[in-house]
Amino acid sequence: MMSNTARPVALVTGGSRGIGRAVVLALASEGYDIAFCYRQASEAVAQTEAEAEALGARVLAREADVADSAAVRTFVSDTERELGPVHVAVTSAGITRDNPLVMLPQADWDAVLRVNLDGTYHVCHALVMSMMKRRRGVILNISSSSGVYGNPTQTNYSASKAGVIGFTRALAKEVGRYGIRANVVAPGFIDTDMTAAMTQDAKGKAAERISLGRFGRAEEVAELVAFLASDRASYITGAVLQVDGGIVI
Ligand code: NAP
Repeated sequence: MMSNTARPVALVTGGSRGIGRAVVLALASEGYDIAFCYRQASEAVAQTEAEAEALGARVLAREADVADSAAVRTFVSDTERELGPVHVAVTSAGITRDNPLVMLPQADWDAVLRVNLDGTYHVCHALVMSMMKRRRGVILNISSSSGVYGNPTQTNYSASKAGVIGFTRALAKEVGRYGIRANVVAPGFIDTDMTAAMTQDAKGKAAERISLGRFGRAEEVAELVAFLASDRASYITGAVLQVDGGIVI
């Protein structure tokens, strides 16, 4: 849908499914135009696009592997050309390749670090100069409670998500004087395709560690992202905010 009214632009990686999709819809309903990327075309892309448009947003949906810096740069420049400068960036694209370290192949270590950590760097690096010039911007990087506490069978994932926390805190210190806020949202167990592969037994054991006794919904994460994106969070930067139902460690 095209609109002549200037709406701020939000860019979301991994916006086709799960938490990213919920963020796309939350920000569209808050009045943003939306650019989102995904790894491969699917019915989910068209659905998310249509739902965001129905909320009044102009939407640009692009296939772009966040592990590929050139693809990310093209996605960012297409967004700036077609929608305008990016005010809010949310890095939600992420993958898991779980195994105990003793059985973890190098390829699964590399893949997870490339997408989760390098991908975050590629997106923020492509956007930060423009935000600094405009003295305006919000960066919201999605980490995980695994990155805060560590999770067995997830040395690769936990390392990548802990890396996102260190990266974001350092960036917040670099860019705060330019009017840019950078925060981390660290979800716990959320009902998405990522956790759908867990066995019922594993889900039950996980739920026992959660104070609220259940997995979260993607919308419950998106609610916090929408708040942090807004001026209502104007004095929050460098924070790591957990949305995990109170995971007991
Ligand atoms: P999901 O349902 O599996 O969706 C992942 C999304 O990321 C999809 O849109 C996927 O696109 C996209 N994506 C994956 N690899 C990509 C790549 N290389 N380049 C571009 N896009 C890519 O996952 P989710 O549960 O929503 O997770 C979203 C974020 O939250 C991730 O960073 C994850 O680590 C984090 N998180 C999730 C949980 C949880 O319990 N679900 C908990 C803590 C943190 P395609 O549709 O093309 O595959």
